[in-house]
Amino acid sequence: MDERVKELLDRVRDAALTAGQVAGVTARCAGKYAGQMVDVAKLNMKIFDLRAETAGLLRDIGQVVYDAHLGRDAAGDDQIGPLLEQIDERNEAIRACKEQVAVLKKCKRCPACGAVCGRDDKFCKDCGAAF
Ligand SMILES: [Zn+2]
Repeated sequence: MDERVKELLDRVRDAALTAGQVAGVTARCAGKYAGQMVDVAKLNMKIFDLRAETAGLLRDIGQVVYDAHLGRDAAGDDQIGPLLEQIDERNEAIRACKEQVAVLKKCKRCPACGAVCGRDDKFCKDCGAAF
């Protein structure tokens, strides 16, 4: 492996060890829809978008590594850490969205008022409508 690529991979390793500060990222998914009815379709759409963003970021990292291999763009080294952090953020947001999907799948909506109720509930906890 050539020296520049090896150096770059060492930086990637270091960045991976120091990253992991993804606090508040969950809010990226949950916060955007907070206070409103969130449905599974919207969440799945969000997961799809986040995955597409992650694929783009992975491609960017690959380009930086390959440019380093060619001996181009020495400044590219500094891009790796932030790119990895952005991927970590998106993976965390995907995890949060999946968690919400799992919660919603255990629920049903009241046909009268739209409140989220347990799947096995006989009456709406908000308006009392019978299911
Ligand atoms: Zn209701």
